[in-house]
Parts: sequence; C-alpha cells; structure tokens
Amino acid sequence: MSLAFEILAETAAGGRRGRLDLPHQAVETPVFMPVGTQGTVKAVAQDVLEGLGAQIILGNTYHLYLRPGHEAIGRMGGLHKFMSWRRAMLTDSGGFQVFSLNALRKVTDEGVQFRSHLDGSSHSFTPEHSIGVQVALGADICMAFDECTEYPAERARAEESLRLTMAWARRSREHFRAHGENVAWREGLGGRTQSLFGIVQGGMYADLRRQCAERLVEMDFDGYAIGGLSVGEPRELTLEMIAEVLPLLPKDKPRYVMGVGYPDEIEQYARMGVDMMDCVLPTRAARHGLLFTSEGRVNIKNKQYAEDQNPPDPRCDCPVCRRYSRAYLRHLMQAGEALSGTLNTIHNLAYYLGIMERVRGELESRTNG
Ligand SMILES: [Zn+2]
Repeated sequence: MSLAFEILAETAAGGRRGRLDLPHQAVETPVFMPVGTQGTVKAVAQDVLEGLGAQIILGNTYHLYLRPGHEAIGRMGGLHKFMSWRRAMLTDSGGFQVFSLNALRKVTDEGVQFRSHLDGSSHSFTPEHSIGVQVALGADICMAFDECTEYPAERARAEESLRLTMAWARRSREHFRAHGENVAWREGLGGRTQSLFGIVQGGMYADLRRQCAERLVEMDFDGYAIGGLSVGEPRELTLEMIAEVLPLLPKDKPRYVMGVGYPDEIEQYARMGVDMMDCVLPTRAARHGLLFTSEGRVNIKNKQYAEDQNPPDPRCDCPVCRRYSRAYLRHLMQAGEALSGTLNTIHNLAYYLGIMERVRGELESRTNG
C-alpha cells in the first residue's frame, strides 16, 4: 500500500477535514508543509519542527540531486534517514527549480537539459530520471515531472507546455509503476511504498486546466496537485484556476496546491477543499525579518521595535513568543546574528501551522453543526 486517504468531515463549501495515512506518518489535513529545500528547513532543527507540529515537509529534488547527490543519499538509506526525519516527506519533481534557476535550459520532448547553478556542469532531467532520483531520495510522496508555464504566457506557449506536461506525466507514471517499489525503507515499513501525484498545469487558461485535469485523472494517480500558480499572476486568477480544477479532481484522493501562499490564502484554499499546501514564504520572509502575526505583518527591522518589550505576536504561544521580545529579535537581526533567522522562522512556521490547526478544528465543528 502507498497511501490511504480518509475524509472525516466535509462542509457545504467543499472544505474537507481528512487524514492522509502515509508510510512514515498519518497526516491530519488540511496541512501546511514547510519547505526543506536542501534536506533542511532552513535555520530550524528537526526536533524543533517536530515540537511545532510539522507533520510533513518537502525536499527539493533538483538541489539534492546536485548536492550531495541522490545516489549517495540512496546508499545511506534515503532522505528520511540521512536528515533524521521520521515523519512524512514529499519531494518535488525538480522541474520547477530547473525552470526558475536556469536561464540556459533547453527543453525537448525527451526532457530538459540544464547547467548546475553551483558549478556550471551539464545535466539533464527526463521524467524517468526525475522519478529515479525521487525513488532514491525515498519521500512518502513523489511528484510527476512537469513543465511549469511562466506568467504571462501566450496561449500557444501554454498549449505546448501542457502537451509536454501530459506526455511527461504518462512517462512518470509508467516509470514509477515499474520502479517505485524499490524504495530503501520498504521492508522496514511493512511493505508499504511511495505514492505518485500528477500535476495539473495549463497556465491561466481555464479550458487548458480542465483538459489537463481530466487527462491526469484518467491516468489514475494517487493524488493530484495544481501547479504553476503563484508565479506572478494576480490573486483573483490564482483563485479562479483553483476553483476551476478542484471539482474535476476525484473526491476521495488528496489535492495539493503547490507554492501558496500568504496566511489568508492558505486559509481560503483550505476552506475550498485543498488538502495540502507548501510555500517558502514563511521561512524566506523570516530570514528577511518579516513576521506574520495575528496583528498583521511585522517588519522586525523597523526602528519602532528597538525597545518594544512585547512578544512578536501577543496571541501566539510558540516558543519564541513565549520567551523573547520584539526588541531582542530586532537586535539579533541588526547584529547579523545566526539566531535571528532561527527564531524568526520558528515563529512564522508556528503561525502557518497554527492556521491549519484552527481551520481543521473549524471544518470539523462546522460539519457537526
Ligand atoms: Zn510566535
């Protein structure tokens, strides 16, 4: 068995309170997944993530393939073991990073050729290779190799990108069916294995999105993601694309919107029936001194906080808000201290994870009432 998904409660608006049973962890949904690009959620240790209630984190295939290499990680038993993370994990396909970090990439029907952003060396990803790397990394959930359509994109460009994404989804599925059971931890976890999600693309064209969703559903993936959003489009368009695609996806499978969003966005999408989301925003913003709080955004670098003895967010009970003041966080940032990024990130993640915890509770009670 790969995954089991159970819907525990459902609202009239389509919101779902569910449980996603993965080999390493039963994940309560809707869930926010912190991003651990290079085998680390930047600046935060694994035991702290556990304490914050992170149930599932992301690893980035592109980065881990280049350094330290998927073969090395595979020989050491997979990414869970390498980074000592016992809970659930998802890896992306590498596609998005190839597109966002490589101006010189070359895309053909076969795959993508690119140069390493680390040393300029030549590499290529095909659907088969991406799946092979993801099997070696050994996350609970793998993603089909896709091409992310940039924004804005002409219709012809979006159509071509969609054609590739659908062909690559089919090849990803076939390769995964043939090799997906080779994951290193299979024996240790009672014969359970990885899952594979398909990714709906189609740019900002509703009919292309619908077409892609329908074809992917025919291919029968373990779950479905909506990709290519939050790439610079206005927020109403993001919402429109999600609303267009969600009703076409099978109700009994998990639905994941990739790369979103601001706190109010993840709350809104969760209430619409999105089960999983990930975003670098809480971690990246934290390192730049931007805190998300119940009172709005706090730029901790601002002089107004120089002697502010209040916690970063008076209504937050995370370990940072329980112990430290805005003045101290501002000082750490001004002084360029490493602890600055750590404390800011812990608060922002607690805030994001807390939103999902609250939404889960509300989805349950609203159904009951
Ligand atoms: Zn806090």
